[in-house]
Formats: sequence, C-alpha cells, structure tokens
Amino acid sequence: MPGVRSDLEALTRIPSVSLDSFDQRHVDDSARAVADLLRAEGMEVRIVQEGGRPAVVGHLPGPEGAPTVLLYAHHDVQPPGDEADWNTPMFEPTEIDGRLYARGIADDKAGVMAHVAALRAHGGKPPVGVTVFVEGEEEIASESLPTILERHGDSLRADAIVLADSQNWKIGVPALTTTLRGLVRVVVEVKALEHGVHSGMFGGAVPDGLTALARLLATLHDDEGNVAVAGLKSSEAADLDYPEEVLRAESGLAEGVQPIGSGSFLSRLWTKPSMTVIGIDAPSVAKAANLLTPVGRAKLSMRIHPAEVPGTAYELLKKHLEDNAPWGCQVSVTLDDEGPGFAADAQGPIYEEARAAFRDAWDGTDPVDIGVGGSIPFVASFAERFPDAAILVTGVEDPDTRAHAANESLHLAEFERVCLAEALLLERLGALPTGGTDG
Ligand SMILES: [Zn+2]
Repeated sequence: MPGVRSDLEALTRIPSVSLDSFDQRHVDDSARAVADLLRAEGMEVRIVQEGGRPAVVGHLPGPEGAPTVLLYAHHDVQPPGDEADWNTPMFEPTEIDGRLYARGIADDKAGVMAHVAALRAHGGKPPVGVTVFVEGEEEIASESLPTILERHGDSLRADAIVLADSQNWKIGVPALTTTLRGLVRVVVEVKALEHGVHSGMFGGAVPDGLTALARLLATLHDDEGNVAVAGLKSSEAADLDYPEEVLRAESGLAEGVQPIGSGSFLSRLWTKPSMTVIGIDAPSVAKAANLLTPVGRAKLSMRIHPAEVPGTAYELLKKHLEDNAPWGCQVSVTLDDEGPGFAADAQGPIYEEARAAFRDAWDGTDPVDIGVGGSIPFVASFAERFPDAAILVTGVEDPDTRAHAANESLHLAEFERVCLAEALLLERLGALPTGGTDG
C-alpha cells in the first residue's frame, strides 16, 4: 500500500481537468502517467484518442482458457472550483484524520490505482486476462466513448467489466451499484394567443400562456408529490436504512418543507420516476408589462426507472402533456435529451464471486446493492456495447467523499479494502470453472 499511495499522490498532482477552458496538456500528461503505471505491471499499452481526450488501454493476457476482465476508471477530474473553499492545497494530497484530500484523489484517480494495485498483488501474473481502460473525459460526459467502444471494442471485450467510479454505502459497508435511473428531458410550449394583448382589455375572457403553462405543470404530480404521468415504470428499491433526517440534511430541505412522493425514500430516489421543472421562459418580474403573455415555455427533466426505455417514457410524457392541455390551449412537446438507465442482472457466478471478494476484504461484511438516482453515461455505453458481460459498478467513494466539490477526499483504510477486494476478485474469477463465466 505505501507504493500504491505514493503513486496515487503523484497521479493526483497532475491537474487533469478535462473541461475545455483548462489546459489540456495536463490531461495528456496524466494519460502518459497512467500508461507508465500500466507498462510497469507488464501490460501492453496504447493511448487511444477518437476526437476527444486521450484514453489509456492496457492488456495483460491470462492463462490459457481463463476469463478476461475489463477494469475501467477515468484519469480526468472535475475543475477544482474556488481555491478559497479548500482547506488544503487543491492538487497537493494532504492527510487529515485518515483521509487524503485533493481534487480527483477519489474521483477517480483512486479508481485507477485500485486497478494497478490489483495487478501488483498478482505480481504481473494475474489468474485472468486483464484489460485496463482508463478514460480521459468522464467528467465531460464521455462524448467520444461510444466511438472508442465501436472502433476498439474488440480489444476491450471481456467476461466481466469492473467500472470503478461509484461509491460504497458507508465506511465499513461495501456496495455494488446495480441500478441507475435514466433521463428524458423535454421542452413543452403552451400557446394561448396569436399575440400578446392588454391584460385589462381581455383578461377575464381569454387565457394567457403562462397561467395555462402553470396549470399544465401542476398536473405532473399528484397531491402527494408522486409523478402523475400514467404508465411509467416504478419499483421498490433495496431495503436499506435511509431515514428522513439524513435526507433532509443531505438535500438541504428547508425547515417545515415535507419530502414529496410515497414509498421508501430510496425508492423515490432510485427506482421511481421524478419530474423537475428546470427552466421557464417568461417575462422577468422587473420587466413585466400588463400583458397576457401569448406563449409559455418550460424545460422538464424527468428521471426514469432503471429499466425504462427512454423513448417509451417520452411518448407517455408527451401524451400526458397533450391530454392535459388547459382550456384547449395548443401544447407542443419536443425532446431535448434522453439517456437510458442501467439495471444490472446482479446474479450469476461473477456477481457471486464479487460479493465473496468484497465480504473477504471487509472482514465478513456483505456488500449491499445500491442505486444511483442520476445516470452515469459510460455505464450505459458499456452495457449497450457488451450485452453479454457481467457489469460490476464498484467504487472508492463514501458518503463523505465530496466528489466534484471542494475538499474532496479519500478514506485511506477503505481504499485499502477496495484494492484488496479487487485483487481477490481477480483470483476468484480465475478459479471459476471453464464455461462458468456466462454473465
Ligand atoms: Zn468519476
């Protein structure tokens, strides 16, 4: 671990922010540093670039007939934000009370180093074939990843895919992320009038576009706050303890405000749809005239069940909006963006071996299955490209990591368990009987 830690610190000192406005030479440097780390483990390494940031691919063949495992992480990081918000230097790893602080140290340089550590534990001779894929643009939505997977997919094919960029449930309790919600984003326009007219002359007899829009938006939830669009998928989430006070504290819910929806909080966050109005075009309060506004327009962000097909959810939402047009107003809906969720088939021999490896690394504590309310674009990309592989979404983060925020940190003792679990996983997968790896 001391060697793994010092390599992690060196990697973290490279400020590899992939966002356009930052110096991209650092991203190139971090790709080269990752390539060197993989080469030192005996891997055949190349840097792949398909119109985006550089990704690093390393390969080490396993024994004849052994399964192949693909290990994913990303070497780019989020912008560090305002230096004044940090308690330690932003890119100089600093240890305080068992945690190591710096931008990117957990998300996801520790993911990179967990893969390196697992290889080191096997002294360059893992019992399975190993391909390491370290992406360079996860933090800017993995735009060229589908192209990379399409053009280089054959060299990335594997029986099991470990995507190390999520989190554990809490300190001492490991987790596998088995569901992610998908996304449908639309713009809805409500037209009441051909042009704006004086509110004193016509108000009272004809509707305005903004009031009509407000009434339409009000139909999207029932009185309890559940999404009211008929036909959307929904299910129960894993039975984990997530009390209201934790939800209130983590979300910043204002005093006296009730949570919305019904069912367990985790099902509301992970396996039920959600609907949010994220923008409205309207005259500003400061510049408002005494006018009936002809058209109201809003952007809606709908999170959908992990197994819901985005196109189906979009049609259901469109129908709901059209069917609920107030006062015969003209409603038009356009799709702005969509992305599938992810629902792992979290069973079979590979998942069993993964759970056993986690249990061993955490001194007998079983891993729990967790969901994530948002989508992680690259997970869906891998699931789509490799439908037959067992996909294991693991991670080094914990509830106090603060990925993307100031004072991001890595819990060192948990990181050691993550490295151990991954080394044990390779060993266990190598021991699976031939033909027992069907994902
Ligand atoms: Zn990440």
